[in-house]
Amino acid sequence: MPSQSASERLDSGRIYFDHSATTPLDPRVLTAMGPFLGGAFGNASSLHQEGRVARAAIETARAQVAALIGAEPEEIIFTASGTEADNLALIGATRAAITKTGKRAHVVTSAIEHAAILETCKFLAASGTAGTKITHLPVDSDGLVGPESLLRALQSNVTLVSIMAANNVVGTLQPIEELAHLTKLHGVLFHTDAVQAAGKIPLDVNQLHVDLLSLSAHKLHGPKGIGALYVRKGTQLAPIVFGGGQERGLRSATENVAGIVGFGAAAEAAREDLADEAIRLAQFRESIAAGLKRALPHFYIFGHATKRLPGHLSFGFRGQERELGRLLAALDAAGIAVSAGSACSAHHSGEPSGVLLAMGYDAVQSRGLLRVSLGRFNTRQEVDRFLERMIRIVAELDPEIEPAPADVAESAPALA
Ligand code: PLP
Repeated sequence: MPSQSASERLDSGRIYFDHSATTPLDPRVLTAMGPFLGGAFGNASSLHQEGRVARAAIETARAQVAALIGAEPEEIIFTASGTEADNLALIGATRAAITKTGKRAHVVTSAIEHAAILETCKFLAASGTAGTKITHLPVDSDGLVGPESLLRALQSNVTLVSIMAANNVVGTLQPIEELAHLTKLHGVLFHTDAVQAAGKIPLDVNQLHVDLLSLSAHKLHGPKGIGALYVRKGTQLAPIVFGGGQERGLRSATENVAGIVGFGAAAEAAREDLADEAIRLAQFRESIAAGLKRALPHFYIFGHATKRLPGHLSFGFRGQERELGRLLAALDAAGIAVSAGSACSAHHSGEPSGVLLAMGYDAVQSRGLLRVSLGRFNTRQEVDRFLERMIRIVAELDPEIEPAPADVAESAPALA
């Protein structure tokens, strides 16, 4: 574990707590990528030595990414992002099913998916003569999809079920194993968007019974602009990008060798560190939640109390929801990077969070979410400094609050 945090390397004193948006590169990843940004520039499709070096590096990375999720290397298709992996899963599986059956497709998803899924569903609904039928399953107040609602949806002909493994806004983990098992009993394909979950919780595609699973390197201390789709052997999938036939014909384009190598190194580092990191980050998360709760009377938490990502905390301040913009700006000025929900919806800011609305929060509460998401290089000192600054800033914005002193040095509560 490097002693100095990545955020401190970038700008000493700043505290980066927005790892659900993106993560800093792990130094091990940068070292692995180095040669492929310099002398090892070959095209992996070339037959000469330069090409063979690139091909070998890609295949090593494919095995590393496969190992993170218990897959076979040939089941990994590299894409340009998690978004593209989601598009390939949904559009690819739907097109293949329509070609095979000639019937209208039906995709079942949840109401709280990332835009990469929701917008792709909109596209599918508007494509073709009849359009694909889309069913959005509801979630409860913790953000969980109920198996009963999936069972009901499975009664009408379904092509594909797509439910995210971990939610990017509230951090809730879905019961993927149970949902996928039910889906398989109906002979239907199951996809999970595991972009937020991968590298943070153990994932095994065989234990989970999933057919398709999306990944993105930049959420696990790898480079941006590289993702992957796990495609179980035998799954029928049509390509969405056409050209030279790379990636088993499913994703044409000259491979991003440095990005793929970085993804492989990031996956390996995540696999090695996962168990210890999950405990360490969950303890930090509990310390932050306990410190804010003790000091700030209006503090409340969004998402499931235990079925959640280890280093992820989403919260609000009752009655203070309209102050969110000022609070975020004050935190940024004080050297703290956190976010209001997902980075991908930041340009729609001011809008209530669709995830919170779906969980039953009202429009005011749904505008008041702050997200703290921790990563590999965060330290206990950063957690303590964050608490001090955060409590001071919230109290300054609301003169009615007299914060209780935050005993930040107190040891973290045991994990639930
Ligand atoms: N799916 C989820 C759950 C995400 O949180 C994100 C990114 O925030 C994506 C998909 C998209 O991944 P990428 O940024 O690699 O396109």
